[in-house]
Amino acid sequence: MSGRRAIFLDRDGVLNAVVWRDGKPASPRSPLEWEAAIDAAPALAALREAGFLLLVVTNQPDVRRSLMSQATLDAIHDKLREQLSVDDLIACVHDDRDACACRKPRPGMLLTLAERWGVDLAESWMVGDQDRDIACGRAAGCRTLLLTRPYNSGAGADLHTDSLAEAAAAILTPLRQTA
Ligand SMILES: [Mg+2]
Ligand SMILES: [Zn+2]
Repeated sequence: MSGRRAIFLDRDGVLNAVVWRDGKPASPRSPLEWEAAIDAAPALAALREAGFLLLVVTNQPDVRRSLMSQATLDAIHDKLREQLSVDDLIACVHDDRDACACRKPRPGMLLTLAERWGVDLAESWMVGDQDRDIACGRAAGCRTLLLTRPYNSGAGADLHTDSLAEAAAAILTPLRQTA
């Protein structure tokens, strides 16, 4: 193994509940709308204890769409970092028309963080609640875990769990067995 193991974490629907708008799962648009999921802090603590870096990668196109300011997004992420201990966070604030390298399902954010932190991608995981998170993780060469939600396909990942707490347990159990 060369490099450190990381858990790449999607934000909305993983670390915090989604906000439903027009029948679709969407992002909080203010710090008041953002609350950490109840199981997030203990799940992250267990993963950190096992030696994983915790790296958040989130699509936030509402900035590009002028539905939320960069300052508001920064304030939400200040709150996230107050409530949850993560090592790094990158937000793609672009939309499809920008054709950027970072908007999931493209793997740009994972590759940037892997370079920054010396991550062994093949020994790392992408955890998300949307099919694009899984496609992104696969494109980066990571293992993938999809949280079961009514708005995703329910398939395609290496592991599927109902919650982040179960995700942490599923990732950590085989490590304990081989330790
Ligand atoms: Mg999400
Ligand atoms: Zn981008």
